[in-house]
Amino acid sequence: MNRRFFAQTIGGVTALSALAGKSALAQSAPGAKPGKIMAIAAHPGDGLFTMGAALAQQIERGGSGILLSLSLGERGAPKNILVQRYGEMQREATLQATALLGAQAIFFPYPDAEIPFNEEISLRTCDAIREHKPDIIVTHWKGSWHKDHRNCHFITGDAVFYAGLATLARSAPPQPVSKLFYADNWEDAEGFVPDTYLDIETVRERWLQACNFYPMWRGETGFRYNDYYSSLSVMRGCLSGFKQAIALMSDVSERAQHSQSL
Ligand SMILES: [Zn+2]
Repeated sequence: MNRRFFAQTIGGVTALSALAGKSALAQSAPGAKPGKIMAIAAHPGDGLFTMGAALAQQIERGGSGILLSLSLGERGAPKNILVQRYGEMQREATLQATALLGAQAIFFPYPDAEIPFNEEISLRTCDAIREHKPDIIVTHWKGSWHKDHRNCHFITGDAVFYAGLATLARSAPPQPVSKLFYADNWEDAEGFVPDTYLDIETVRERWLQACNFYPMWRGETGFRYNDYYSSLSVMRGCLSGFKQAIALMSDVSERAQHSQSL
């Protein structure tokens, strides 16, 4: 049994093809209007490196995209840069990167490494979803060694629930989210099983340029993000029959198939 989907889009109105070990192209519904995608990341680097290509692809198709960073990732500072200064550099890099992709960027003020998981942040994230009205959300998978990433996963799950809860009164009206995906992140690899491969060939160069605004992308904090994620997109492309691709994992609640026959 093969549960993989091969998609040129991940919009809510796109019909995906479930295929057994063969590459194929998804067929967009006639007249389908691309929706809005929101990436919710613990740190801006996660947002661009693991979710940025999905944002870029949605925007190129005529949709829109927004990146919500729960922190600035400032504690990843190299030894020769003060933490506060590094946070400012991360914010500036994110503004430049999202501008290049045509996406919006918003920031929550939580300290890196101290992102909480509680009602306050879940409701704040719910309010961001209600305000910006995404159709699709991409965030962290929970199988991470990093506590901020795990918390971001659970915050987003609760926020999506609250955002669509019609009886929960907030400043903005309810906003149901039609699709929830988890990103392919080397720090969130435990139990990550991709089931959706997205063709990113047409946006790959722009996405790589956007990532290059970050010193950490260039290996300046130790890990070779550039080599890892640029190679990963080629590897995921090999597996999916596209030239380059990203892999996503859909939420378990979206995997049930409703059929009157097999
Ligand atoms: Zn991170």
